[in-house]
Amino acid sequence: MSDVEREREGWRKKATEVARGVVAPRAAQIDATGEFAWDIVDVFAQHGFLSLIIPKEYGGMDGDITSFCMVAEEMAIYCASSSLLVIVQAVGTMPLVLGGTEELKKRYLPKLAKEKGLICFCITEPDAGSDAASIRTKALLKDDHYLLNGRKCFITNGGVSDLYTVFAFTHAEKKMEGISGFVIEKGTLGLSVGKTEEKMGIRGSNTTEVILEDVKVPISNRIGEEGVGWWLMMRTLNRSRPAIGAQAVGLAQGALNYLIQHGQEKGWFKRNGGTLGVESTLADMAVEIEAARALVYKAARMMDEKVKGTPVQMFSAMSKFFASDIAMKVTTDAVQILQWEGLTRSHPLERMMRDAKVIQIFEGTNQIQRMVVAHTLLKAK
Ligand SMILES: Cc1cc2nc3c(=O)[nH]c(=O)nc-3n(C[C@H](O)[C@H](O)[C@H](O)COP(=O)(O)OP(=O)(O)OC[C@H]3O[C@@H](n4cnc5c(N)ncnc54)[C@H](O)[C@@H]3O)c2cc1C
Repeated sequence: MSDVEREREGWRKKATEVARGVVAPRAAQIDATGEFAWDIVDVFAQHGFLSLIIPKEYGGMDGDITSFCMVAEEMAIYCASSSLLVIVQAVGTMPLVLGGTEELKKRYLPKLAKEKGLICFCITEPDAGSDAASIRTKALLKDDHYLLNGRKCFITNGGVSDLYTVFAFTHAEKKMEGISGFVIEKGTLGLSVGKTEEKMGIRGSNTTEVILEDVKVPISNRIGEEGVGWWLMMRTLNRSRPAIGAQAVGLAQGALNYLIQHGQEKGWFKRNGGTLGVESTLADMAVEIEAARALVYKAARMMDEKVKGTPVQMFSAMSKFFASDIAMKVTTDAVQILQWEGLTRSHPLERMMRDAKVIQIFEGTNQIQRMVVAHTLLKAK
């Protein structure tokens, strides 16, 4: 095993221990109450899961995308909301790591790494979801600062973050090339949190509106040059979609593990005087999960190895939609196998099924991921 592989396995091992010891006992309660689990935030911060992709020189863990996926997968075996905590922190941080000036990185990355701060990622607006280029939020340059106005919605951790990575038009007439990214501190005048969404799944994740009314942001808080916002967004999403895929793989694996372990203990597979005929379904589930896992780690490896000319955005999109479709199928089949028992909160399977639905929608819907794949295929011809 190489040093890099040893390091990755170290992250997986650490994540497995925390997932089993700390996350698993809290998962059902987090879902039932819809609470934001600050206790889990503390434990994740202590273990470096919330500073995983921050480079060492800024106090972070210097983990690669494969390690990021491993941690997301292990957490999701027990709790998709806790897995999303790790993912969103990396998504909010990524634009800063990829495109921030040295001064901006030194100002904010150590704060996230050492002071356990949370950060969110704000693109979506009421009239701009899949088509992110139609955002309406504007950043108007005035002397030494910008004035930001707009309304973001469905922002994960919008109500609990210390920092906000916000995308806005600095030059709307330039379309995609007119978008810029900004880091905004919680408490900045004019930045407020609107409605909190009551979701069917991933209920422990905080999802809110973020409202910007004449928010004064210093020029030095712009991430990179004016107009590189689209590039930052896409590069960030290319890196995070495999982690969303890994979250889906973990969720599906968790459902299968539960089904097998508890099914065998309680004789679920031998009801009504015979087997329920579920063996082939169990085999299908196992194969589908392994196939999704292979695709997720292939996409992650492509990111880490940075081989020029590889269609990383296509593999990233494939891993997200394939793994989350598999998670939806596996969790639905698992509920079906348990029949009425599967519908009750006595078992985690109905929660897992609700969580899988959300993964098919966020971070770019699965329809949009299919479009990314098709466009890449057609462009290559
Ligand atoms: C739980 C949750 C957390 C989220 N967290 C964040 C976050 O932290 N930050 C953030 O910025 N956003 C976040 N989002 C927003 C999320 O990324 C968007 O919901 C998603 O991109 C889809 O946008 P929309 O909901 O506006 O749907 P729309 O774009 O309005 O799409 C509606 C439907 O039409 C389909 N569709 C749209 N365009 C096409 C097309 N051209 N071809 C075929 N089908 C199409 C879509 O697939 C979808 O089924 C979150 C969403 C959820 C549900």
